[in-house]
Amino acid sequence: MALIVQKFGGSSVADAESIKRVAKRIVETRRTGNDVVVVVSAMGDTTDELLDLAADCTPIPAPRELDMLLTSGERISMALLAMTIKGMGVEALSFTGSQAGMITTPDHGSAKIVDVTPGRVREALDEGAVAIVAGFQGFSRDSRDITTLGRGGSDTTAVALAAALDADRCEIYTDVDGVFTTDPRVAPLAKKIDAISSEEMLELAASGAKVLHLRAVEYARRHGVELHVRSSFSGEPGTVVYTPKTGHPKGDLVEDSVITGVAAEASEAKITVGGVPDIPGKAAQIFEVVAKTNANIDIIVQNISAADTNRTDISFTVPMGEGRKVTEALEAAREELGFETLLYDDQIAKIAVVGAGMRTSSGVSAQLFRALYEAGINIEMISTSEIRISVVTRADLMEKAVRVLHTAFGLDAEETATVYAGTGR
Ligand code: ADP
Ligand code: ASP
Ligand code: MG
Repeated sequence: MALIVQKFGGSSVADAESIKRVAKRIVETRRTGNDVVVVVSAMGDTTDELLDLAADCTPIPAPRELDMLLTSGERISMALLAMTIKGMGVEALSFTGSQAGMITTPDHGSAKIVDVTPGRVREALDEGAVAIVAGFQGFSRDSRDITTLGRGGSDTTAVALAAALDADRCEIYTDVDGVFTTDPRVAPLAKKIDAISSEEMLELAASGAKVLHLRAVEYARRHGVELHVRSSFSGEPGTVVYTPKTGHPKGDLVEDSVITGVAAEASEAKITVGGVPDIPGKAAQIFEVVAKTNANIDIIVQNISAADTNRTDISFTVPMGEGRKVTEALEAAREELGFETLLYDDQIAKIAVVGAGMRTSSGVSAQLFRALYEAGINIEMISTSEIRISVVTRADLMEKAVRVLHTAFGLDAEETATVYAGTGR
């Protein structure tokens, strides 16, 4: 008998029909003799709708109350799913994140898991029940408040529970057949990947492939949890995300492909600090000011200084939601930093190509730059890591750039990918 954690995303439980379909799958897994722990997201676009509702009530909702509001979405689906399963003759009990022992930091909207104490989930399993846990939420011992893990966080709930319960498998069910070489909503010729290393999946998730929550992949890698990403709408085998501990499902001899996938996101903004005196210590000073805002900086570019003025420009990207606090902090320190201009541009997109084979293969950047050049797409910033190259372009060219690179790196499939549901919101 195995212990299996199954996570169902919003589009998999969007309405009563979907909930019944998912319940059937869970009941089948249970009836074949497995212990089953289920993690659910809010139904369909509920989380977005709750956010819209909050914004209609007040411009800047209090973070504590926003978390209270958002966690209600997952409570609805967990209760509906539990009663549906019970209706099918299988015992089921639903638990909030707090009841399931998801202990987090007190940071509303971006809480991190610090401990998992799933005593009640264990008890439910011992009694023969299916345990249904609300995803994306936890409880802070410090503040004694309910928290959320950040958008897409239900994946992380599932992985954390799988690790804490020492589950045999963690299955992430969504609205596509697994992890693809790029978002099939953007490039219909995206190809399904059978197995991907957690290292590459980390880079893809960090670059905008929202099929898995970045922290879920990090957690899985750290705890050696093998993830299976599958569709809840088909019987396809999906994608295995393997870790150094679990190893490639086909053994060690599989060669890394040069490029595994392309990811993109338009949720970043570019800040340019212009006319910075080109003297030692300026970059340190600027980024110390930025660091105090706790913003997540990604790509940084410094231009060569103009010979006549000995001043330079420094540009960097931050998530759009953090742009305002960063520009305010820099503006407040303008005199001390001695810069001349401050520009904020949120019409940018970041596109990344990822592949472990890049380590041993040269010429990938040249190929990437040429493909974008031939498509008439201008590159504004570039950054590279061992297995990733990212570029910044205009936001309205993002989808075109993704398709161009997907084709240029030979990733196109013969047939179009199936997207079963969801609005892509
Ligand atoms: P869920 O609600 O099940 O968590 P998400 O909407 O968070 O689902 O994630 C699934 C979506 O991720 C897909 O519908 C797809 O549009 C998008 N996506 C982005 N990049 C990829 C990729 N590389 N492979 C598969 N799906 C991707
Ligand atoms: N419902 C949450 C969201 O939409 C969490 C999740 O679905 O993973 O972000
Ligand atoms: Mg998701």
